[in-house]
Amino acid sequence: METWIPHSFSRPKLLIVDDQPTNIRVLHELFREDCDVFMASSGEQAISVCQTLLPDLILLDVVMEGMDGHEVCRRLKADPATQSIPIIFITAQQQESDEVIALELGAVDFITKPINPVIVKARVRTHLTLKLQSDLLRSMALIDGLTGVANRRKFNEDILADWRQCFREHKPLSLILVDVDYFKRYNDQYGHQAGDGCLKSIAQALAETVRRPYDLVARYGGEEFACVLPNTVLSGAVDIAEKMQKRVRSLGIEHSASDVDRVMTISLGVATLTPAGEHGFEALIEAADKQLYGAKNAGRARVCSSGMSSS
Ligand code: GH3
Ligand code: MG
Ligand code: MG
Repeated sequence: METWIPHSFSRPKLLIVDDQPTNIRVLHELFREDCDVFMASSGEQAISVCQTLLPDLILLDVVMEGMDGHEVCRRLKADPATQSIPIIFITAQQQESDEVIALELGAVDFITKPINPVIVKARVRTHLTLKLQSDLLRSMALIDGLTGVANRRKFNEDILADWRQCFREHKPLSLILVDVDYFKRYNDQYGHQAGDGCLKSIAQALAETVRRPYDLVARYGGEEFACVLPNTVLSGAVDIAEKMQKRVRSLGIEHSASDVDRVMTISLGVATLTPAGEHGFEALIEAADKQLYGAKNAGRARVCSSGMSSS
């Protein structure tokens, strides 16, 4: 497979599942140049590899000792985390009814053994291309067009997932809500285009302040941003909020119509909760929003968090 994978994508991850080492070897040989190839020799192993690896495509043998390919497919399709991974069945069974079962189980394709390398390569190529394109579309649908940070939809998805994860692990979840100060006046004074540019710079500054891979900065609304910090205690979140506020101030964006300063500033509300159940993340948003309101009322350009405030 030559140049069919767009350069912007990393190497695709291909999982081969077969209980016969010879079959695995043949397929590995075919794909090792173009893909990161992973192997599993049983259904049980395939499921556990899938959950951690999240491959882009699975070549799945039907007849195996223990859990067979159909059952593996059923389980992967029943789990939201793995259900979008395309599966191609590879089987010695030649009956049309077998193909029907495979497709009904949600497989994208069906290839019979002995395998023809040209056919397997062509089908893998097609389905990997489709998978990578749909991943790309999905990631684009979660990015805010103006600022390039995550959008509100991504925020909604992440805060729910993080809430559940922190509930399972008994860890605190922190949220920072950010609102630009006197931004309407900024637009009135410098024009909407300059306002857009300012939002981009602020988004960038906020995104540069967070460090951990699971931290998220998202555009929450017009001139509002949100930062979700899993496994972070209140003092840690306040620390990040203070850094954000300093960083935005140090951008030095002139704002002569502001009542707080000569440069652009932001107000921030911080809240932390350790989830007591699967549901209820709205309480965290409400708490952070209350703190943001407090920061605005206390004179803007500051961080407010439950029980404390600073300027
Ligand atoms: P406060 O300090 O109380 O937050 O005052 P504010 O003016 O920032 O708040 P208000 O909610 O009154 O105004 C928000 C402004 O943000 C109004 C709106 O035109 C502007 N805005 C929202 N989205 C965008 C955008 O995408 N681009 C630009 N340039 N302006 C935007
Ligand atoms: Mg606002
Ligand atoms: Mg504002």
